[in-house]
Amino acid sequence: MDAAERVLAYGGGWLDRAGPLRADPARLEALLTEPTTVVLPLWRDRCLVDGDGPVRLTADRTSLVRAAANETVFLGLDGDAAVFAVDLSALNERSAVEMVGAARAVDVRALVGRLDPAEAAVQAYARGLLHWHRQSRYCGACGALAVAGGGGHVRTCGGAGCGRLLFPRIEPAVIVLVEAPGPPDRCLLAWHAGAPEGSYSTLAGFVEVGESLEDAVRREMAEEAGVTVTDVTYQGSQGWPFPAGLMVGFRATATSEEVRVDGVELLEARWFTRAELRERVAAGRQLGRVDSIDHQMLGQWLTAG
Ligand SMILES: [Zn+2]
Repeated sequence: MDAAERVLAYGGGWLDRAGPLRADPARLEALLTEPTTVVLPLWRDRCLVDGDGPVRLTADRTSLVRAAANETVFLGLDGDAAVFAVDLSALNERSAVEMVGAARAVDVRALVGRLDPAEAAVQAYARGLLHWHRQSRYCGACGALAVAGGGGHVRTCGGAGCGRLLFPRIEPAVIVLVEAPGPPDRCLLAWHAGAPEGSYSTLAGFVEVGESLEDAVRREMAEEAGVTVTDVTYQGSQGWPFPAGLMVGFRATATSEEVRVDGVELLEARWFTRAELRERVAAGRQLGRVDSIDHQMLGQWLTAG
């Protein structure tokens, strides 16, 4: 496996986030006029795409767009070029599409197989950050309007005597490949409520307040599938800004083969051998979403035996 394959979709740290520049509004304003600067327009969680992929505006085309935008945020540096994103969500879809010369608005997840991984990562980053701004216009403590600053990485409450700082929130979730306690090698996959019948994926759940990631793994596996697990081992993580997730992958080993689904989140859970999974793949079934850490963990498990 080469390095490019190990990088999960939407990750990779392609962009220099240039955190110190966020504290220099005059410099950011100057960067917005430089010919090398790129501005990515988004509309309500979607990229605006033309025939060649997501639209990238140069500085000379951004004055009208910025005037119509809810927010302009600084994403970072791509080499020497500054990269910004603007949110055109206040417009209707047709106006946003026409303003930037796009053909349509589309979710980056629908493009991920076709986009350059760096571009997919930057679009996902922009999507998550702009989503947070739209959800965080007002202070949760006093209800006053909060104003964006720091290049779009903080909002400050304007309420008298408040001044609370609001930062983008990340919601961590654990995603777990549970292995059987003894031979033959098997992993536990589940049919999740809302998923098409016969589609199985790994078990997952959100981390609760006061839990470690490992606590969350043990609780979720017990609650959803009635399985007690040990040997909880970190596998990797994936930013999942749809809208604010961080997927943290683990392997764990069940202490018993007995499975009891809750019937709410999971409709069925069962053990699969590698041969059974390979049969499913051969029959055209996906192992999880192709852009997900779930898919990568299952692929690694399959090739390990
Ligand atoms: Zn406030």
